[in-house]
Amino acid sequence: MSGSKCARLQGARLQQLLDSVDSILFDCDGVIWRGDQPIPGAPQVINLLKRHGKRVFFVTNNSTKTRRMYADKMSTLGFDVTEQEVFGTAFCCAAFLQTACGLRGQKVFLMGSQAMRQELEAVGIRQTGVGPDHVSGGPGDWANVPLDPEVRAVVVGFDQDFSYMKLNRALQYLIQKDCLFVGTNRDTRLPLEGGRAVPGTGCLLQAVETAAQRQAQTVGKPSPFMFDCLASQFGVERERCLMVGDRLDTDILLGSNCGLKTLLTLTGVSTLEDVEGHEKSGCEERRKMVPDFYVESIADLLPALQG
Ligand code: PLP
Ligand code: CA
Repeated sequence: MSGSKCARLQGARLQQLLDSVDSILFDCDGVIWRGDQPIPGAPQVINLLKRHGKRVFFVTNNSTKTRRMYADKMSTLGFDVTEQEVFGTAFCCAAFLQTACGLRGQKVFLMGSQAMRQELEAVGIRQTGVGPDHVSGGPGDWANVPLDPEVRAVVVGFDQDFSYMKLNRALQYLIQKDCLFVGTNRDTRLPLEGGRAVPGTGCLLQAVETAAQRQAQTVGKPSPFMFDCLASQFGVERERCLMVGDRLDTDILLGSNCGLKTLLTLTGVSTLEDVEGHEKSGCEERRKMVPDFYVESIADLLPALQG
């Protein structure tokens, strides 16, 4: 892209960038894998970066797996990864509820996966709500649905069992002003191969926000919490850190919000046309979504790491 802030990363510029960073954060879906297939060359890139002494982290908005599950998936795909390097929204949401909300030992109403339940339980937070919740009775009964008096927060992640009754139960909790409201992320669509897509957690969260007439706090990208979470644990210096992602409104915005260098890879959601649209918009908020660099695929980093 000529005249653009967003430069293609190759040759001397690539070497220079790699020399200028100690830590690299990788988004997962669309960057290191697509669904269950690794992006060709991605395992080699990650493993070589580590061999070159870089610290590598994985930052995903997908709340359907625990850290352990991600580490297992990545090992199967050929990545040399430990659980501690993975920051998914199930784990980070549990950390947020524990540290920022002080909910250790408390109970939450969870609209989410069994994986979220496991991450919450690992930090001493109990839940009610996981699994199906079928509708019975009529509107008069729904407003009086039995509530658990111990519940301190409504927590919304990706929930395959999302239903009218769950939405109603969340509303009844959130009518109580002191009930906290936390969501994992706002991705509205999960893209699939061939331009297809399915609804993401953002759709479920917006339904709950609409019903409750309240805004949730969110933990996932572009909120800085995930970066703060890993930076505080590993002492990451933001000036020497690179964020690599395929989405401008989550990954690249997170990088900009946190003062990191940013790299867009074109193997996922966002395109150079999207970049151009933000760049030409004249809107400061949108310009934050313009990455410093782009590559066709993270395999383009290989020449700087081999030999
Ligand atoms: N949320 C869910 C439920 C997903 O399945 C995915 C991708 O598979 C995402 C979010 C986005 O994940 P990432 O942040 O790794 O792109
Ligand atoms: Ca992604």
